[in-house]
Amino acid sequence: MKKYIALIMPLLLILCFSACDLSKTNNDITKEEEPTVNQQEEQNIQQDNKQDVESNNPQDDQQNTESNKQQVDQQNTENEQNSPVVNSDYDPCVEYNIPIPVETHTYDNGDKLILVNKQHAITEDFYPTDMVAVDGSLSTNQGLYFKREAYAAYLKMLGDAKEEGINFLICSTYRSYDTQYSIYHSYIKNYGLEYTNSISAYPGRSEHHTGWAVDITSKAMGYGLDKNFINLPEGQWINDHCHEYGFIVRYLEDKTHITGYSYEPWHLRYVGVDVATEIMSKGITLEEYLGVA
Ligand SMILES: [Zn+2]
Repeated sequence: MKKYIALIMPLLLILCFSACDLSKTNNDITKEEEPTVNQQEEQNIQQDNKQDVESNNPQDDQQNTESNKQQVDQQNTENEQNSPVVNSDYDPCVEYNIPIPVETHTYDNGDKLILVNKQHAITEDFYPTDMVAVDGSLSTNQGLYFKREAYAAYLKMLGDAKEEGINFLICSTYRSYDTQYSIYHSYIKNYGLEYTNSISAYPGRSEHHTGWAVDITSKAMGYGLDKNFINLPEGQWINDHCHEYGFIVRYLEDKTHITGYSYEPWHLRYVGVDVATEIMSKGITLEEYLGVA
């Protein structure tokens, strides 16, 4: 019997060490393939930073946009998989008394007639392409970006206005989802929900987010935004001439029932000269022009 055990024991020991080594190797492989939480966070931060840089880069092109979209889609899928179960009854449209969107734009395809309003939304990660920095001496706020085509048209409009002794300044152009979120909630805090919805867009429903809109002010306006703008020479000049440069007054006085917003003589939207001329000569809204009013 002792002789038998003496023969078996070395075999058992060899088998045991082999199994332990195999187990260790499997653990190592698994660990290397799964990124740690910190690595995952780092990837997300890098992705966010990259998107921020691209959103401010005038050299943005369609390829970047598609690449962005793929990254965002991938990130969304990962987030969905990792997200804890949330209350499925929660609906921001109910909480903030805004319509359920009938359409949601997910990326910029360069369409200057893109419709963004209370019913037509834009995703949080929508980044306009082909943006340029606004000359800080021409705006009350600094660090602004504007669609290249719209900015060129604006500069032409401003140059012609100055020749007639009219001067004005940019107050606001492109606004990110986060900026719009802050503005919207600041208004709610100060003025309540109902009034806020008549003057400010819920984040993801502002056409400032597209890069095609601009708010204009002047020294006589105290560099603020107010309906009185139309009673000043600069407000009247813009109302009469903006279409010649491709802009429309987006929220007309008698079209609140269509746009959902009160009159804003300071808020212009770039759509191109031909469309702007038709819209302004007929006194209609972009919604009516597009046949969705
Ligand atoms: Zn505006």
